[in-house]
Amino acid sequence: MASSPNNYQKVGFLLDMDGVIYKGKELIDGSADFLKKLRKLNIPYLFLTNNSQRTRRDMALKLNRLGVPAQPEDIFTCAISTARFLAEKKPNATAYVIGENGLGSALHQNGITVVDDDADFVVIGEGRTMNFENIEKAVRLVHNGASLIATNLDTTCPTDQGIRPGCGAIVAMIESATGKKAFSLGKPSPVMMRMARKQLGLRTDETIMVGDTMYTDVLGAVEMGYRSALVLSGHTTEKDILNYAYRPDVVAPCLNALPENFYLQPLPTTPKTTNKSPSASNKVLVGA
Ligand SMILES: [Mg+2]
Repeated sequence: MASSPNNYQKVGFLLDMDGVIYKGKELIDGSADFLKKLRKLNIPYLFLTNNSQRTRRDMALKLNRLGVPAQPEDIFTCAISTARFLAEKKPNATAYVIGENGLGSALHQNGITVVDDDADFVVIGEGRTMNFENIEKAVRLVHNGASLIATNLDTTCPTDQGIRPGCGAIVAMIESATGKKAFSLGKPSPVMMRMARKQLGLRTDETIMVGDTMYTDVLGAVEMGYRSALVLSGHTTEKDILNYAYRPDVVAPCLNALPENFYLQPLPTTPKTTNKSPSASNKVLVGA
């Protein structure tokens, strides 16, 4: 595990992707340079996304094509936190899944069988291929006792053409029909935030989350006690921050504009011990 440079306190970054590294198909100016700097300084980082659609391999390819070197292991998605959590709670479980490749492959890799009926869990992810029949089936399974799991509760997804309904919007429909509340494992879920921190081998006070969304990235960090930075290169403006009761520690126009003294903090110096005699004012006057 990489450690931070000598003379500086150890830190590591959890980096949201869309709105931080790239926006849609475009790389955000300076983000590749910032990552290069982190690698040079030996500061570890992990990409953290609430997109469950694509596999880590697909996402690493996207980053590489944009000029950002990345391996599949550098990416942590809400599909992974969901699959690991379910596998831990119920080994060899079955799941009815509304979602795409990224979610299906994470579930399979964690020993969860995707079924069409009789499921332990109904797992909802992002996707554009679902139809009303899938929703109807999910509603019946949850009504009959399957646990409703959301990979995230984002109500919208950004696209090049504007927003589209996100995972949270689909989940809301099933919640409304069944009267059951979904359990979410995407940002700001502490389950995902903690798993990501552990993967980097960091302590709470060494972890910095950078994102462009207040109610996922910043909220998750605030609840976990991580330091947080909001970048304005995504869909949040400075004015939007006022709508929330919590605040990021730092606001920057983009990732590469994060002030260095936010993440490069000198180690505290240990006070030198001296053998100097006490000062005159501390001397006890005898016979005064
Ligand atoms: Mg984002």
